[in-house]
Amino acid sequence: MTQKTTFSVEDLRRRATRQVLPTDQPPEGATTPDAKPMLSFTAQRRGYPPSHLADLDVKARKELLKSAGLPGFRADQISRHYFGRCVAEVDKMPDVPASMHDIVTDTLLPTLINSARELVADEGRTLKTVWELFDNSRVESVLMGYKDRVTLCVSSQAGCGMACPFCATGQMGFIRNLSTGEILEQVRHAMLTAQDGKLKIGPNRLTNVVFMGMGEPLVNYRAIVEALHRMIDPSPEGFGLSARNITVSTVGLVPSIYKLADLGLPVTLAVSLHAPDDELRDDLIPANSRWKVGDLLDAAYHYYSVTGRRVSIEYALIQDMNDHVWRAQLLADELNQRGRGWAHVNPIPLNPTPGSIWTASLPEQQDAFVQQLRAAGIRTTIRDTRGSDIDGACGQLATEVNSQKAATRRANVRNVQ
Ligand code: SF4
Repeated sequence: MTQKTTFSVEDLRRRATRQVLPTDQPPEGATTPDAKPMLSFTAQRRGYPPSHLADLDVKARKELLKSAGLPGFRADQISRHYFGRCVAEVDKMPDVPASMHDIVTDTLLPTLINSARELVADEGRTLKTVWELFDNSRVESVLMGYKDRVTLCVSSQAGCGMACPFCATGQMGFIRNLSTGEILEQVRHAMLTAQDGKLKIGPNRLTNVVFMGMGEPLVNYRAIVEALHRMIDPSPEGFGLSARNITVSTVGLVPSIYKLADLGLPVTLAVSLHAPDDELRDDLIPANSRWKVGDLLDAAYHYYSVTGRRVSIEYALIQDMNDHVWRAQLLADELNQRGRGWAHVNPIPLNPTPGSIWTASLPEQQDAFVQQLRAAGIRTTIRDTRGSDIDGACGQLATEVNSQKAATRRANVRNVQ
């Protein structure tokens, strides 16, 4: 009879040959070689977009209309068009008199986001949109079609203050939080796109929403919670999406995870872990300098205990940085010591940038990492990288559009000098 040999994390660690560190090169998109990731919770801009129907609950919508001299019941009608039919143009709402169009548009339905650029990838299965906001900030959302679902990846902030060195958005800094309306407008547009059958695959309706676009959602906690309610609640309060198909992703704002758990909404929590040891994670995810791996996994386990929702552990596999087998075993140990079956690990090969040390793990290393997790009883599913041919990593496209704009501005300045 053959006996199964098991190795400890230390045994496996001794065999590892190469360790690339996040500090070996400047952060992704940095403009100076000595740039350092700087965690920030302070927005660069104070301005906020105009108030919108999607920012408010039905009661507040009625009050706002009444204060504009219109009967409150119109709020209900307009909300049904907006949330039930995804219509935001008053001239497409036959029961709203023409005499009210201007005032309704100004009071409840100002334009919050405009498409600045659209890109198609993966043979029409992925659509990426860069949105321009009222203050010229840019954010992006990605719509992905699968056989059985259509998933929207939404942005929750312009820029991001979490400064993850492998992420282009992180290098933009924290520009500002998006309003609930700006988040829900991304959702409404995606619903229309799916309805119109613009994706080459998947049902003709939006089924899933993930907060994995630009920004750290839990920094924008209030707007996110409002947006969650309005995505889940049925029309005329909201869009009526299934809470179970909505995922809030975080790099690990521990106190906010506990707050979110207490809300009792059955949405999925995804933790962008990327390293199971503080030694590496301190440099890979600057937020780890505040909230350590152990505290983060305790909070994630609490979320599971309270909501009954299995937590997703996101793990971008970066060659020779975090893809060692000993790290897979350490991750498994950390998860198993808190309980069985409460977390699902999703390794995802990093979208590579040419010439960077941030590059995707080799397939054999990826397989070894996954096997080690599975052998330890951890549910593990490799996620596919969508949109890698259109700057699929979060923030890359908006950064590129911004830098093109900046380059154009610089060129214009040179022209007039
Ligand atoms: S990976 Fe996410 S949390 Fe980190 S800087 Fe990028 S957008 Fe922010």
